[in-house]
Amino acid sequence: MQSSLARGIVVTLALTLTACAPNPVTGDALLLGTAIRIQTYRPANAQLIDDAFARVAEIEATMSTTEADYDTTELLELNRAPVASGYTVSADTQLVIERALHFAAISDGAFDPTIWPLVRLWNIGSEQPEVPARQAIDAAQQLVNFRDVRVGADGLVRFARQGMGIDVGGIAKGFAADEVVTILREAGVTSALLDFGGNIYALGRKPDGTAWRIGVQRPDAARSQLLGVLEVQDRSVVTSGPYERFFVEGGVRYHHLIDPATGFPAENGIEQVTIVSERSIDADALSTAVYIMGLERGLALLQSLPEAEGIIVTLEREVHMTDGIPPLFELIDTDFTIVP
Ligand code: ADP
Ligand code: MG
Repeated sequence: MQSSLARGIVVTLALTLTACAPNPVTGDALLLGTAIRIQTYRPANAQLIDDAFARVAEIEATMSTTEADYDTTELLELNRAPVASGYTVSADTQLVIERALHFAAISDGAFDPTIWPLVRLWNIGSEQPEVPARQAIDAAQQLVNFRDVRVGADGLVRFARQGMGIDVGGIAKGFAADEVVTILREAGVTSALLDFGGNIYALGRKPDGTAWRIGVQRPDAARSQLLGVLEVQDRSVVTSGPYERFFVEGGVRYHHLIDPATGFPAENGIEQVTIVSERSIDADALSTAVYIMGLERGLALLQSLPEAEGIIVTLEREVHMTDGIPPLFELIDTDFTIVP
């Protein structure tokens, strides 16, 4: 989570368009390297929001790999442990790692939680990022391969080679959002809206009984400009794009979504991916995975998964969608064209 959990760089991607009565209770916090907002409408309950933030803070302190913020966390311990012994992680961390390895397998390694050596080397979220030396990229790339991780039933995680490590920056926000949804549901909340730095969860319906309207931001413009609107209930909406976190060197944009196959930020003609699914952990991992896979492979993967729908926007301003999206989505910006 090197860059993902780095503090201070925050871009909220999706906007909530709904002005609601009755008024919600709203809580804001800076956690998981992003601005988090939780609004509960029914019932409006401030104590619940405190409980939710405490849970998210716990997840951050366990799974962050941002060495500037933490001397140690469970994942840093794992990544520093001798390969011969490995390291036993908590049930939470085990669940996130196993889910991440599942998405690595189905994306054929485009999403890969063992990306840590490359994320650390590129250090995109840092104050003075620069393009690493070719040799260093090659060396880090040798250490990235999800097939070389073993997770025992007891939570013992072992790597095949010293120097390997896990980064859950592409999936942890989704896990945390799901945990908050569970807390709220168990307390009887039937209407709430979560925004984890653009990872949205729309719980239940609006207090007036209609679906939530979630804005999808236009990828290349100011935040307030909308590409379109999704109408959802009990769904997570997660967007990934290269414009969220990047630096420019020699006129080239280097962003935070690293292609394990090249060791470099993925460049494949995609500008934005939005995933809609029941679980935010799935939407989070898939938005990152599909971005790196590119249009054809990414769309084929999404079409094969009943639990997820997606919208892919290309640099040519084409909007590609899975079969489940049209009933939910209204395109607003006519600079973009829906491709059937
Ligand atoms: P954000 O955290 O900005 O919302 P994402 O969910 O798409 O965006 O996750 C990006 C983060 O995922 C990176 O900052 C990094 O920690 C991690 N990451 C980068 N490349 C990969 C990859 N190929 N597979 C898995 N995780 C990755
Ligand atoms: Mg993600």
